[in-house]
Amino acid sequence: MASGMSPTAVYIHTPFCPSKCGYCDFNSFAMTGEIIERTVAATVREIETSPFKGSPAKTIFFGGGTPTFLSADQLDRILTAVRETHPPAGDIEVSSEANPGTVDSAKFSAMKQMGFNRVSIGAQSFQAGDLIQLGRVHQASDIAVAVRAARQAGFESVSLDLMFALSGQSMTGWKSNISTALGLNPDHLSMYCLTIEPNTRFYRLHTRGMLDLPDDDRQAEMYDIAVQLSEEAGLKQYEISNFAKPGHECQHNLCYWRSEDYLAYGPGAVGCMPIEGQSTRFTCLKHPERYCTAVEEGKSTWFDVEPLDDQALRFERVMMGIRLNEGMPLEGLDLNQSALEELMTLGWAELSEDRITLTSLGRRFCSSAVLKLV
Ligand code: SF4
Repeated sequence: MASGMSPTAVYIHTPFCPSKCGYCDFNSFAMTGEIIERTVAATVREIETSPFKGSPAKTIFFGGGTPTFLSADQLDRILTAVRETHPPAGDIEVSSEANPGTVDSAKFSAMKQMGFNRVSIGAQSFQAGDLIQLGRVHQASDIAVAVRAARQAGFESVSLDLMFALSGQSMTGWKSNISTALGLNPDHLSMYCLTIEPNTRFYRLHTRGMLDLPDDDRQAEMYDIAVQLSEEAGLKQYEISNFAKPGHECQHNLCYWRSEDYLAYGPGAVGCMPIEGQSTRFTCLKHPERYCTAVEEGKSTWFDVEPLDDQALRFERVMMGIRLNEGMPLEGLDLNQSALEELMTLGWAELSEDRITLTSLGRRFCSSAVLKLV
């Protein structure tokens, strides 16, 4: 199998959480006991036997699930395997998602020591009612404790995640969440609109009319205030849902948005690499038991391997690239000219010499813009 030797983003999926949140359709499992250690050992082995061994790491990102549900020793063993298999290309970003309630000073200090240099803390809301509704295990007060612990451990890049358009959420409640988050002086802030995904508890509640979700106009207002308050606090928008102090943009996620290659390990992880000259998306077995059995039997963990043709690649490039404030390079895209003109007439997009960039109005209609363009 061909292995590109240019530095590549490396993603590790850790699929365990203390419990399953009501809105979550990520590959995450509320499992405990022996399966966790078995999955850690399998992940280490999957990395060590990677067909892409030797490709240097451009970034390393632990996501989930809840990576910090693993012990410091388990995180260390996986990170060590990554670094031995994919030698870091210099002083790279090594990031982990972390959930309040699963971290303390000791774990953050150990993570800092082993080489993580960025943490992204899943706050979601500072209101007790929201957290209960979402099914989060943490309390509002745990968030500040987690941020303080990360700073004390020496993390110079700390991100917070918030969600908006929650059931029954008022503008006042949302503004207060943003202000409280900004008051913790994060270097990076991600703010996502709640989406109702099939096969979630929220989906069942929604179909029974039991969620009081804000309408599109209210969602747009919530989004606009998020952009305004973040910018006022010195966090510059660089992607539709992401804001950062200069130099704190998430380098790993930028690789996705710029449609670069990425490696992925762990149950349910999705990667995209050139294989025999063709960009190929692969997905690892999702259930931890099946994933572990495959690794233990020396079989491939990939259950889905999809070579991406030109049309699929173009769609990916547009869907991801248009989200960035830096804009999307037009070279090689052959976009629908009348759609481009329509977006400019609508005031959704601006064209420079070699890029298309959504305007602040256009960011509200990103999905529609993508569909028009491809
Ligand atoms: S913590 Fe994150 S990954 Fe885990 S269940 Fe909740 S939303 Fe899903």
